[in-house]
Amino acid sequence: MKKTITIIAALALLCGSATAQIKKSTKVYICTGKTARAYHTNRNCEGLGNCKGEIKQIKMKEAVKQGRHFCSYCKKSVTLQKRDAVRGEKAD
Ligand SMILES: [Zn+2]
Repeated sequence: MKKTITIIAALALLCGSATAQIKKSTKVYICTGKTARAYHTNRNCEGLGNCKGEIKQIKMKEAVKQGRHFCSYCKKSVTLQKRDAVRGEKAD
């Protein structure tokens, strides 16, 4: 019985570390341009490359409050990182 609990605890820790990078307190990047509607976790994101304004770093909570959505490029890379973390191997 004790062993089962240990395994569950270990799994919970693993899941926790995989999602740690997208916590609400995480700092994200936004473009202050008029047409920008997303926030980014990656400073070198393709989406930010088209920025017509300034690139600012703010809390994810603030970005969501401004009605911004998680950039699809960044979302994709987070998903890939998670998948690699689960499989325990890198894409390259
Ligand atoms: Zn992005």
